[in-house]
Amino acid sequence: MPGDLTDFTKLCIHTITTKPWKVEEAAENYSREGIKGISVWRDALDGRNIGKTGLLLRNKGLEIVSLVRGGFFPSVSTDIRRKAIEENKKAIDEAALLGAPLLVLVCGADPAQPLKVSISQIKNGIEAVLPYAEKQNIKLAIEPLHPLYSDTRSAINTLSQANDLAEYFNSSFVGVAVDVYHVWWDPHLKNEIIRCGNNLFAFHICDWLSPTKDLLNDRGLMGEGCIPLKEIRDWVGQAGFTGFNEVEIFSNRFWAEDQHRFLKNIKKAYLENS
Ligand code: ZN
Repeated sequence: MPGDLTDFTKLCIHTITTKPWKVEEAAENYSREGIKGISVWRDALDGRNIGKTGLLLRNKGLEIVSLVRGGFFPSVSTDIRRKAIEENKKAIDEAALLGAPLLVLVCGADPAQPLKVSISQIKNGIEAVLPYAEKQNIKLAIEPLHPLYSDTRSAINTLSQANDLAEYFNSSFVGVAVDVYHVWWDPHLKNEIIRCGNNLFAFHICDWLSPTKDLLNDRGLMGEGCIPLKEIRDWVGQAGFTGFNEVEIFSNRFWAEDQHRFLKNIKKAYLENS
């Protein structure tokens, strides 16, 4: 099992989960609730001194688990591909300033070209930024996205594809992020999670609501939907993962709620469904 799940020492929350809060408020409130990890979305850092923000989070007793997100490498335009590489280097700089050891990659896709072309551009993109990431001591996690996002968000849609890509680089700086929302349906999931081994860099949790009202912003709280979270978590433990369980929920419904109450419900759902 990844960590001690009887308390909140392995619970991490993504800033996007409590989007109405500024990063400073999120840090204050997570810390007060005994949560130990935070993954920071880049937009939460807008207009801030990133180094000072990192210090503030650590002073609240929070471990900065990852910076989200880099990627979006593919495009039919060579100019946009070149800019994407620069943007990823900027994200690596931000991760280093913040003190986050990991940058999560949403790899990207361009509907104007075949998926296999996008995949080869993703490979080239990671190849181009990897030496920079290594120099800054920032790991890169390839996050496979559910196939319904394969038009514009990611041409990497299964954990098998993410593992293939991570293994191609054969670097301790390239691994994968398993987000249950994206991969729960995969009949090969257990084997692919075990296959990750040391390449398993991050574990994201939430639930798949049925029916889902919005394909991007209607994720559920753990236990509300149809994802067999305990089973998947068990496989993640079998892979040797001992890191954080990161709650990443995009939800118009929850963002409209009182965020303090939502945070308490996250803790309750975490204990009940872990
Ligand atoms: Zn995720």
